[in-house]
Amino acid sequence: MDLVIARPEGLYCPPGDFYIDPWRPVERAVITHGHGDHARTGNAHYLTAAPGAGVLRSRLGQDIDLQTLAYGERLVHHGVTLSFHPAGHVLGSAQVRLEYQGEVWVASGDYKVEPDGTCAPFEPVRCHTFITESTFGLPIYRWPPQATIFSEINAWWRANRELGKASVLFCYAFGKAQRILHGLDPSIGPILVHGAVEPLNRVYREAGVALPDTHYAGDFARNDPLLRQALVLAPPSAGGSSWMKRFGDYSDAFASGWMRLRGTRRRRGVDRGFVLSDHADWPGLLWAIEQTGAQRVMVTHGSVNVLVRYLSERGLDARAFVTEYGDEDDTREPQAPA
Ligand SMILES: [Zn+2]
Ligand SMILES: [Zn+2]
Repeated sequence: MDLVIARPEGLYCPPGDFYIDPWRPVERAVITHGHGDHARTGNAHYLTAAPGAGVLRSRLGQDIDLQTLAYGERLVHHGVTLSFHPAGHVLGSAQVRLEYQGEVWVASGDYKVEPDGTCAPFEPVRCHTFITESTFGLPIYRWPPQATIFSEINAWWRANRELGKASVLFCYAFGKAQRILHGLDPSIGPILVHGAVEPLNRVYREAGVALPDTHYAGDFARNDPLLRQALVLAPPSAGGSSWMKRFGDYSDAFASGWMRLRGTRRRRGVDRGFVLSDHADWPGLLWAIEQTGAQRVMVTHGSVNVLVRYLSERGLDARAFVTEYGDEDDTREPQAPA
């Protein structure tokens, strides 16, 4: 029996009668993590991993009907045993393990295998069927170690400060921004953030994640000399907006797995591209899939067909799952701001 099937509302567990990351409102929603394409408003009941509670409430409203489980804690619902296991993607991100009549399925949500210090590291979970993402499911996607990327970012910031230019780094406000903050060298200068970033910083700090001090960029007057020493974190949507005018002559950059592609940085129109993704790269996907021991793999978002073919050629029962994920993290290649 299939423990998860694709329905118009989202991925559905028939024996448990609940959905995982539904894209249309349902009665019972199990949420893998708080990115907007996985956690949507309008569901009657929410269940998520405990470290993700603050994120969900800050994004979906303080009054949602939310139940949480610690990682590894089990809940039996209609005979289905459900538990959450760290996915290493963003604060609170979880794989969902389902067990029913001896069958074990794991729905990964989004995941990353390199530990980053801002969320619980990915933990492989043994299962018969593994539902994996494949955002970067092509052999060309191989991430440099994040320590290399952080030293590149810090060196870029230092060089700009010496030229008297602000360093504006575009990145997604939830997850990527906090991971970058964690890797910055605050001795270089002040760290400023856009208003979309700070509420998430607060949630991370409340969850005990150490982040350097940040200030609202909007609190600084245009021409304040501090701006020219600062590193500024802003969401991609701020690019090209009037909000940017305060920084005068600045250098800008984009942090994303897509910066691995020659041409993306140019199309996005930024000075620098830093290859930093919160998703597994190709070797990471293959490693994670192998660790599960699963014979059957269902592939969602990204390069679905390439990964399905690769796994099939290696003797696994691999299939595609059609979903409506995509948007808020690195799911799509960033384009030039409108
Ligand atoms: Zn995500
Ligand atoms: Zn996703």
